Amino acid sequence: MNADSQTLMQTVNFVYIISSILFVIGIKMLGKADTARKGNIISAVGMLIAVVATLFDRQILKAAEPMSWALLVGALAVGSIVGYLVAKKVKMTSMPEMVALLNGFGGLASLLVGWADFYYRGMTSSISNMVSGGLPTFTLVATILAVLIGGVTFTGSVYAWGKLSGKISGRAQVFKGQKIVNAVIALASLAFSVSFCVVGDPQTAHLCLIASIILSFVLGFAAVMPIGGGDMPVVISLLNSLSGLAASAAGFVIENNVLIVAGCLVGASGVILTVIMCKSMNRTLSNVLFSGFGAAGGAKGGKVAGEMKPMSVDDAYYVLEAAQNVVFIPGYGMAVAQAQHAVKELATILENNGAEVSFAIHPVAGRMPGHMNVLLAEADVPYEQLKEMDEANRILETADVAVVIGANDVVNPAAAEDKGSPIYGMPIIEAYKAKTVLALKRGKGAGFSGLENALFFRPNTRMVYGDAKATLNELVSKFKQ
Ligand code: NDP
Repeated sequence: MNADSQTLMQTVNFVYIISSILFVIGIKMLGKADTARKGNIISAVGMLIAVVATLFDRQILKAAEPMSWALLVGALAVGSIVGYLVAKKVKMTSMPEMVALLNGFGGLASLLVGWADFYYRGMTSSISNMVSGGLPTFTLVATILAVLIGGVTFTGSVYAWGKLSGKISGRAQVFKGQKIVNAVIALASLAFSVSFCVVGDPQTAHLCLIASIILSFVLGFAAVMPIGGGDMPVVISLLNSLSGLAASAAGFVIENNVLIVAGCLVGASGVILTVIMCKSMNRTLSNVLFSGFGAAGGAKGGKVAGEMKPMSVDDAYYVLEAAQNVVFIPGYGMAVAQAQHAVKELATILENNGAEVSFAIHPVAGRMPGHMNVLLAEADVPYEQLKEMDEANRILETADVAVVIGANDVVNPAAAEDKGSPIYGMPIIEAYKAKTVLALKRGKGAGFSGLENALFFRPNTRMVYGDAKATLNELVSKFKQ
């Protein structure tokens, strides 16, 4: 290596360290609603710097012919425009679908990097004997990991996107012998993967690689098939983690340090989020992946006796007017109704009326982790008013009114009381502890899990029917009169 290329390598690695630091700072800032936007920009800048450094590192800028330049600039422009438009257009309620697609394409990219690297180096005549001599086993293992994990992530994510967006049934699809079929597919792909690493002949190795790719695609579908309903967020988070691991493996294949670091960061944060979500539902990861929760045929929970008691907005106004301590419990319905600004307005009015106001946030309320925090931050609800589950449940013990805004599963007492319920054991916001519960929803629709909710039948619960935003706006105008 001459002095010039050594300087270039050192400079590029230094830039990669800066990029990695920016990623870490960015992820840290994503942890809080008020710094999340800035954190996103910092991470994106880190990625841009890393991409530019790689273009220098790989001599792409120097060696590129006019045609390659056109391809590079064209791809960057098309990618940026599509990314911008899609991110602008996507509704908050559809964000998990978008994350699923991004994970999927991340996995596919890693698969293609692994495959292209092998194809390029393996099929070049001068090093045609690379498997037995030219390429270290470590690189071959990294290649097959990038391909396998990337393939599973790709089809698993596309399938999860279909389920979440309602393009196909969101329920778990289970059939007899499914676990055995999945195990056979996994074993077959393992066999081809091992053969790829040890077979020696590049042509045969390439065939093994293609077989592994096909099987990884099948495995992605097969693994997500028995998962459905309320478990989908965990799957999305796990696939996110896998897309990071695939990227990291691809980084080892092409010896790119920043890709290894970025992949590990995504992989680790995805695993942490997955564990947090499993804990929020009081489930183990293996139970989420293999139990077939919410399978076709409908979720089964205990029948609830009694009837729901409606209340007019006028009467709800009197209840709130007299309350000293009010807890809002937002759920998916608040996101659908886009009622966050109306809730904030009502909360401010109640505070001015002398009431203590807080917002109880369940970790899986809505359709993605942090969904409620993002919406309430958008409406400028002070961060201190957002209470996590344990604290919220303590406050609810002495609350006068709990206002449930389009939340259902996350306030379902069956999770604590009905041993036969599929959601038994999932921690919930204990709305039923408040003296009065006002449930704002459009009708008698079930929650995401499809289960009936005993809370709505309790003697201290009143149903205030209607679109959450319209109801809240009516309440606000009653206070203003
Ligand atoms: P749910 O999906 O359980 O319930 C939402 C309720 O909102 C429905 O009962 C619906 O009743 C009501 N609703 C819908 N639109 C409106 C509207 N315009 N105005 C008023 N009410 C409305 O919500 P939760 O937040 O309680 O629970 C989230 C569920 O989603 C959990 O099961 C969770 O596991 C799952 N999930 C969570 C994800 C996450 O990461 N947070 C991702 C994917 C799934 P009606 O039709 O009668 O109005």
